[in-house]
Amino acid sequence: MPDINKGLAYQLAARSAKPTPTIVTVGNVAIGEGCPVVVMAGPCSVESREQTLTTARAVKALGATVLRGGAYKPSTSPYGFRGLGIEALEILAEAKAETGLPIITEVMDPRLVETVCRHADILQIGTRNMQNYDLLREVGRTQTAVCLKRGMSASLLEWLQAAEYILLEGNPNVILCERGIRTFETYTRNTLDLAAVPALKTLTHLPVIVDPSQGTGRSALVAALCRGAVAVGADGLLIEVHPHPESALKDGPQQVTPDGFAALMVELHPVADALKRGIA
Ligand code: PEP
Ligand code: MN
Repeated sequence: MPDINKGLAYQLAARSAKPTPTIVTVGNVAIGEGCPVVVMAGPCSVESREQTLTTARAVKALGATVLRGGAYKPSTSPYGFRGLGIEALEILAEAKAETGLPIITEVMDPRLVETVCRHADILQIGTRNMQNYDLLREVGRTQTAVCLKRGMSASLLEWLQAAEYILLEGNPNVILCERGIRTFETYTRNTLDLAAVPALKTLTHLPVIVDPSQGTGRSALVAALCRGAVAVGADGLLIEVHPHPESALKDGPQQVTPDGFAALMVELHPVADALKRGIA
């Protein structure tokens, strides 16, 4: 078997390079090994002020500590919803002002990094952009936290090298997010690779979170995979929550309702407690 550490293609990200785990701090939320599990929740996409504020209030009341919501959406179909852009960033800012929840939102274009940084506490790099090296370098020139999603066909080595691009520019605040990979299976939207979590824990000091929403594509499976992710050592979760998933503009089948999210949180607590971490 090839040695993934050979040649140290990711010298800064390597566990051997830094004995203490990296803790990424966002507002008063600490994300990383040994910290309580961080739950990031909210809609796939910001669709309206009402939809976003309703969801933000609900997830906050139910224990989320970071609000997610896409303003700039990658869309496989050029006819699909591409996000509300600046208007969505302003809605997220309002949701943050009201709830106090820090914001995670995607940036796709290096030219928009500065704009998105003004509103985001965590910049999400989506699966389709994991190897967009100009974008990685641009977010690496900020000090804003970056959530680097795994490319849907990327190996752990390629993913760690993508993280290295960001670290190399001087931004140490990188979080890795497993969101499922492409396999022959089509029942689930992606195959959520939970083995990647303990594997990454041996390879890197960076925090690792899991997104069971993109990972399964099915809302009915999200709660179980959240429990599984925490059980294998994930430092956080990224969960899509929508007040009316049936009419969502994007990713409806995988978004849980606020009631579903409430049930999920109840089931998650004993798992996080068993690992002596609790939920942030
Ligand atoms: C999302 O979080 O809504 C998203 C588009 O994620 P990914 O890049 O993992 O598909
Ligand atoms: Mn989505």
